[in-house]
Amino acid sequence: MVTALITHADCLKHETPEGHPERVARLEHVLHALEDLELRRVTAPLAAEDDVLRVHPAAYLADMRRALPQHGIVQIDGDTFLSPGSLDAAFRGAGAVVRAVDIVLGGEAGNAFAAIRPPGHHAETDTAMGFCLFGNAALAAKYALDHHGLSRVAVVDFDVHHGNGTQDLLWDEKRALLVTSQQVPLWPGTGRTDETGAHDNILNVPLPPESGGAQMRGEYEAKVFPRLRAFAPELIIISAGFDAHRDDPLAELNWEIEDFAWLTEQLCALAAEICGGRVVSTLEGGYDLKALSESARAHVQELMKAARDE
Ligand SMILES: [Zn+2]
Repeated sequence: MVTALITHADCLKHETPEGHPERVARLEHVLHALEDLELRRVTAPLAAEDDVLRVHPAAYLADMRRALPQHGIVQIDGDTFLSPGSLDAAFRGAGAVVRAVDIVLGGEAGNAFAAIRPPGHHAETDTAMGFCLFGNAALAAKYALDHHGLSRVAVVDFDVHHGNGTQDLLWDEKRALLVTSQQVPLWPGTGRTDETGAHDNILNVPLPPESGGAQMRGEYEAKVFPRLRAFAPELIIISAGFDAHRDDPLAELNWEIEDFAWLTEQLCALAAEICGGRVVSTLEGGYDLKALSESARAHVQELMKAARDE
């Protein structure tokens, strides 16, 4: 089997102010790093409005459309902005993860990586925040459950920041297990172990500042992998942020490229064991361009290895 790479040039049309870490160059660097890999390249469609409405109310979409500028850049939250191309980018991002779910569940590819921006895991039900507009990972999980009729979907979020948005969107969803590891303390301030969801369906794994890959591996082996095995999802969705890298300017975890590769390999091995290898990964954070692009490449290479073995 092959790995699908799903993206769209519209994701480069979401512009942020000069100096903002979530910038167009991030995706350009990621795509450049994946250029020579043998991937099945898929153009992301615009998401159907109904797919976005699975996780966000219509009033939220209406607010975003009202706030969208004709030119220039407007601020809609402490660090979240809209430019004229932002909603096209967001609808392509959501469309990419939905298409990724279709491709993987339809057996057209072993697994898939959605190379998109803006990221999604901080967007709450009716609040854009933390550079994020639509909750892509949660939206993909809901789509797999409601549209494809799956019974259990897991989301694993290894971005260095807490996936508060995904947690908010899946809080009441007992068919979904969210596992999210993050540096604590760190913005947005949530992600403690006592945040467990309405149905004990959320596992938060806090990691202390200046801890490294060894501690992460220990926590995943002790807590995350057994929990995933017990839940037995039919699909694993990864919120792949690469800002836990030691060179990232926004956080203080000290992961190396090898740590992202190890974690991806482990998650793919687990997926092979429990759900036919079905993994959909979506790009979240990562703000040092070199660390981001090299880590994303290592992540995709592990997805490719896993798909080849299927
Ligand atoms: Zn992040």
